[in-house]
Amino acid sequence: MRIECIAIGTELLTTRRLDTNSVWLGERLADLGLAFHRKTAVGDSREDLRELFQEALLRSDLIIATGGLGPTFDDFTKELFAEILGVELVEDATARADMMAFYTARNRVPPQVNFKQALIPVGAEALRNPVGTAPGVWWEDPPGHPGVRIVMLPGVPREMKRMWEEQVEPRLRPLAGRARQTLRMVVAGVPESTLDERTRAVREGHGHLDWSILASLTQVELLVRSDDPRALEGVLSDMRPVLGSDLAAVGDGNLEDAVLEGLRLRGHTLAVAESMPGGLLAARLTAIPGASRSFLGGATVYSPVAKSALLGLPAAFLAEHGTVSEATTRALAEAVRRALGATWGLAVTGNAGPGAEGETQVGTVFLAVAGPGETVSTGRLIPGDRADVQLRSTAAALDYLRRQMA
Ligand code: AMP
Ligand code: MG
Repeated sequence: MRIECIAIGTELLTTRRLDTNSVWLGERLADLGLAFHRKTAVGDSREDLRELFQEALLRSDLIIATGGLGPTFDDFTKELFAEILGVELVEDATARADMMAFYTARNRVPPQVNFKQALIPVGAEALRNPVGTAPGVWWEDPPGHPGVRIVMLPGVPREMKRMWEEQVEPRLRPLAGRARQTLRMVVAGVPESTLDERTRAVREGHGHLDWSILASLTQVELLVRSDDPRALEGVLSDMRPVLGSDLAAVGDGNLEDAVLEGLRLRGHTLAVAESMPGGLLAARLTAIPGASRSFLGGATVYSPVAKSALLGLPAAFLAEHGTVSEATTRALAEAVRRALGATWGLAVTGNAGPGAEGETQVGTVFLAVAGPGETVSTGRLIPGDRADVQLRSTAAALDYLRRQMA
């Protein structure tokens, strides 16, 4: 089945908005054993859309379009498909009732322009929108294109996802191949190319499976898909000895989930003192529901004043060692651990740039972990711009702690 994705919206062609819908849809298709053969982002232009829809109808069996279903002048996905296929739009009674109910529940009267959202091409089916006002469309065998299916979904990611899961996936499942599962392995502290080399033999040993390596600023993901769960179990048991302690998580979680899980399993708690990341480390941890079971909190000790007033580092100590130094970072980790009575204290200092700060080079980062045993610390040089260094330093800190806990 040749599947094509069309992401509609002028904003998707600018730096203001990324087309995340097609990425998400690609993942969901992969789980069904399906894949896009192409995807396109296109602006809200009648001419461009007409041309693209016409081409898509000739080359694809399944066309998935998101966006352009709204009530305003720049929304015309349904109108154009209907026009190309030579059918009228008619009001769908359920779609109209859903829209009325949406407004009534909010004590509002629908603006006149909204009624056009309840129009559906003759011969197509409306997909109900439980979280918004624009219904979607499921259109099988449109005139002149037997065997083709067109899916139109709202651009709003929350609405698109819900409608896909509840209404489109069940319609696609009978057409899909055997459902596939994904084994996701999150690897920390290993560059992508090193990981590629280290895992080559295992990947070649399971060469018939579908492999990918996805690097981000904070971790590398190794993904493998198969319709046979036993094959994935085999991969995991072959990978474990190869990856050792660099394997931070298996499944959906990331580094922060792995750290919180490690703390929870041991009945341990964590406190953080962060200077250069400015609270990002705490934000990453508290983004995980249930973090409060193990994460007590901490301090954003960005200035020397904060380091002294909140965590009691004497001004003379800071003057002697400098604010970006291994000694200061160790003292911060110990102080925050003591202040909150935590099992572990984790501290990060550094210089994220853009300018050099005293003696320290841009990208200099110090990490310290104070725990039940000896306090440990390390220095790193992290590449990237200010935001990269801040984010990467939190990953380095989480990974450093994870390894101390093991
Ligand atoms: P629309 O359905 O075109 O009115 O889009 C509604 C909202 O969803 C807008 O804020 C869009 O920027 C956003 N949106 C539309 N398409 C996408 C997409 N492919 N990925 C992420 N957001 C999108
Ligand atoms: Mg739009």
